[in-house]
Amino acid sequence: MARLREVQVGAQSPQALEAVIGSARTAHLHDQARQVWEALGAREFLHVNSTAAGGGVAEMLANLLAQSRGLGIDTRWLVVGGDPAFFEVTKRLHNHLYGHPGDGGPLGDAQRETYEQTLAPNADELVSLVRPGDVVALHDPQPAGTASRLREAGAKLVWRCHIGTDAPNEWTEIGWRFLRPYLEHCDAFVFSRPNFIPDWLPQERCFIIQPSLDPLSAKNQPLSDDVVHDILVRAGLLSDAPTGAGTMFVRRDGTRGRVDRPAELIDSGPPPPAGVPIVLQVSRWDRMKDMRGVLTAFAEHVAPDSDAHLMLVGPSVHGVSDDPEGAADLAACAEAWTSLPDKVRRQTHLVCLPLADVDENAAVVNALQRYAMVVLQKSIAEGFGLTVAEAMWKGRPVVATDVGGIGDQVIDGESGLLLADASDLAACGAATRRLIGDPPYAQRLGEAARQRVFEHFLPDRHLDQWGDLLRALLVGQT
Ligand code: UDP
Repeated sequence: MARLREVQVGAQSPQALEAVIGSARTAHLHDQARQVWEALGAREFLHVNSTAAGGGVAEMLANLLAQSRGLGIDTRWLVVGGDPAFFEVTKRLHNHLYGHPGDGGPLGDAQRETYEQTLAPNADELVSLVRPGDVVALHDPQPAGTASRLREAGAKLVWRCHIGTDAPNEWTEIGWRFLRPYLEHCDAFVFSRPNFIPDWLPQERCFIIQPSLDPLSAKNQPLSDDVVHDILVRAGLLSDAPTGAGTMFVRRDGTRGRVDRPAELIDSGPPPPAGVPIVLQVSRWDRMKDMRGVLTAFAEHVAPDSDAHLMLVGPSVHGVSDDPEGAADLAACAEAWTSLPDKVRRQTHLVCLPLADVDENAAVVNALQRYAMVVLQKSIAEGFGLTVAEAMWKGRPVVATDVGGIGDQVIDGESGLLLADASDLAACGAATRRLIGDPPYAQRLGEAARQRVFEHFLPDRHLDQWGDLLRALLVGQT
């Protein structure tokens, strides 16, 4: 049965962020927070999505809420529940908005009925939490169907779309046709890039806000080389003895966490030995991330002449509640892996990270991104691609497809290398080999990458833009 649930997030101290962004940027943030606080008064700001863990939206919401709360703005995060039939429909919708057919199934009356019937009890619960004048941000297609009920309850509604394509086609048309009746109840629309906005939406009510990463979260906080090493050894991702530095990280509430749970290596024998170059892609198991294409590109164009190892890392496929295709994508990768030559099989690893403790999961991703020599993101489509910003923040050189928001993050040849065509596996291999073979060049790209994130993709810019939008909504200009 579909049930709404609330995700609890602790507050992040703004003092800690000030140590990263400096006093001028912090002062601006406090000023914005004070104005939002005054405009909100007794009203609440709620976010609604469909998973608490295992993807960019969950990652970003955890960060945004923690920082908003640290600044004295109370926000709540609610997750809609649904059964597999509902998530089959919403995943299809998700793939359509990326311009792909997904599982190829229809988005007709029967799917609309499944969608609406699942959201009806979620909407009942949401409406009981919302008072007139509250602002509700609905994230992505999954909760969009609650909009009319929330509107009737007097909420101001923002639809935040994290996905999209620069090249709309017949699939995006079908996806928009399905969603359009729900979106008509929303007051404002937020996209990651202008090209993602469909032309039938009122353009004056559409806003561009790019995501950000939290430099203090378990995912991105600094870790010493020895802690990185020990986390990977402890998680079973590096064949070596621990240094003794331990596997501790700091949670948002200031308490310490420790990496203890092993990762699951799918069919891939021992983990990489210490000292070999690691090429990494971290993603959900999703065909749009093309983990299988990365495997083939590495197997054919990197592994034969190199001792580098590839690690394809994703969340445990049982943990991401709104993603029914994860297990099939992982199985397809595992099957492709099985048919590789022996030497290449030893150099390639499919890894699932447990989600039982999201901070522990994040600390392992952090360690992997810091340890990697090259980070890939060979997506076929991408809304923003937080994994790219995460690697860039750690000073890693990235090789990523120039799709969606990745092109807003990486300047080709300056802060990473962009691939024009996701299907050009030879180009992906060549860019990877180039970075492995030229460490000074890789380091220059990595340093510029970190600076680019510092300037554009940290939370103060992100919160400031949400603050502007909230104030516009609350004073009735939107
Ligand atoms: N991620 C994670 N654990 C995993 C795999 C992915 O925490 O095992 C995170 C990753 O670090 C990033 C997010 O999931 O923060 C993926 O966001 P992105 O925008 O790259 O893609 P999305 O999943 O939203 O399509």
